[in-house]
Amino acid sequence: MSFFTADNLLRLARRQQCPLCTGAKTMDTALCRRCRQKLPTHMRSNLEGIQRREPSAVSRAVRQAAQYIDVHFSSIRRFGGGKKR
Ligand SMILES: [Zn+2]
Repeated sequence: MSFFTADNLLRLARRQQCPLCTGAKTMDTALCRRCRQKLPTHMRSNLEGIQRREPSAVSRAVRQAAQYIDVHFSSIRRFGGGKKR
């Protein structure tokens, strides 16, 4: 994912779908509650109130979150947990 522009950021803030899990998310957050709860606190705070934040910071935060969730959940899948496809 490349860096967000201010425009991308606004669109993401207003979207009602989480970009990672496609669940419902609220205004002004980058990810839904469920995804944010999977993250460590320092990562989570950058994904809330995103309209006030720097587009580059939010961009980085989303990328880190996606990576974190991806790594975390692929390791769960390796142990036989998680969603079956
Ligand atoms: Zn989500």
